[in-house]
Amino acid sequence: MARQTLPVRRTSAQHHAVTGEQAELLRVGTDTLQRADPELAALLDAEVSQQNSTLAMIASASVADPSVLAVGGAALSNVTAEGYPGARYHPGAQQFDAVENLAVERAKSLFGARYANVQPHSCSSANLAVLSALMRPGDTLLGLDLDAGGHLTHGSRASVSGRHYNAVAYGLDEHGYIDFAQVEALAEEHRPQVIIAGASAYPRTVDFARFRAIADGVGAYLLADISHIAGLVAAGLHPSPVDVAHLTTTSTYKQLGGPRGGLILSGRDFEAPGPNGRTPLHKLMQRAVFPQSQGTPSPASIAAKARAFAVAARPAFRETAELIVRDAQALAHELSSLGYRILTGGTDNHMVLIDVSDVGLTGVTAERALERCGILANRNRIPGDTKPPLVTSGLRLGTNILAQRGMRPEQMRECAQLMHTVLAGTRLDSDTEYLIDPALVATVREEVRWLCSRHPLPIDTTASVPVSLIGVGS
Ligand SMILES: *Cc1c(COP(=O)(O)O)cnc(C)c1O
Repeated sequence: MARQTLPVRRTSAQHHAVTGEQAELLRVGTDTLQRADPELAALLDAEVSQQNSTLAMIASASVADPSVLAVGGAALSNVTAEGYPGARYHPGAQQFDAVENLAVERAKSLFGARYANVQPHSCSSANLAVLSALMRPGDTLLGLDLDAGGHLTHGSRASVSGRHYNAVAYGLDEHGYIDFAQVEALAEEHRPQVIIAGASAYPRTVDFARFRAIADGVGAYLLADISHIAGLVAAGLHPSPVDVAHLTTTSTYKQLGGPRGGLILSGRDFEAPGPNGRTPLHKLMQRAVFPQSQGTPSPASIAAKARAFAVAARPAFRETAELIVRDAQALAHELSSLGYRILTGGTDNHMVLIDVSDVGLTGVTAERALERCGILANRNRIPGDTKPPLVTSGLRLGTNILAQRGMRPEQMRECAQLMHTVLAGTRLDSDTEYLIDPALVATVREEVRWLCSRHPLPIDTTASVPVSLIGVGS
């Protein structure tokens, strides 16, 4: 087999100027892909075009800075090293150790945390690691019901969290807000070992302090899952649970704009004892991730997390986060004016939940009709939903990407109008089949393209590391 010389091998004459080796490797990789695998390269290019020309309102999504994507493809990925910095089970991890330390320090700095574990491959893994460290099989877990906006890993029967543990679920009150009276009553009745505060579909501020008071009342640990709102928390636009909950988990690819992955944080209580009354939480968490629930970490993803935390610490990130909330509020207002029922009547975060059964549609038909027109929003079960999970009666919208594209409240009127044109032009044929005029699809698709072309996806080439983070971790 012909062996290509890696670009890192240079002649001695070039050696004095060796920089940018990683960039060269990425360039060679990209060139090779285009030449040697045009089929795959074309799919990836089509994806970029699609992201450029569609109105993505997927509440869990955001756009990663190109530098974050580049770091995710780093040669660091070739390093296999179980364990933690300074205590690896393999040699050759000097750079990786430094990178992981940097990611940990940047995570702590960004969230004001005392402890961070950057190794979880996802927030689901992070949640399962936390639960397995704090609970024995059969112990009781209290989390938000899946149908009320909770996550699978908060005790759903479809997840091991609902099978290995005795999962009890709280829900929402008649206004769509978390029913704290019920949380308290269930906590007192079932005496859970862990209470989870956090949601995948909840448009309002989560009162972590109130959860903590309930947890303290029954001797439970409080886990805050900020997967969806981590960007707002980092920007100071949602109360932070880091010093309120015992442990906080998040995904890094949602509002944080990082790579696929998860993160565990702890603040004030990082040294609080675990269930055995001795081992501090931070030590428990280190073991809970490795070796208890994961093997080798993903070094390039950890590097990309480090990069994303630096991007999220910049003032520009906060400005975008402010716009995300203002846009969501404007979008809720516009849709409400057009006659849609907005769950809870509005939003405090990036998310807008609407009931499409009122306009004679199901969640899945609304999702599909919108997708045909270049508008991406996903179906969602709503409280009291009579439709199955693949059909649903609701639609979940998010403004992360709209705001990242620089769209402002003025443009939310346009977005709401476009959605309304599609939904008002869609007729239900069955729960999952719909009819729509192809001419209407073509018109809206064109308007979506035009709107997107006026608000291109951000490429910020000035995103240097904030002064506050320089030297952190070294
Ligand atoms: C998305 C989500 C998760 C799971 O995150 P992954 O990183 O995709 O595993 C966990 N909790 C909540 C609240 C979420 O919304």
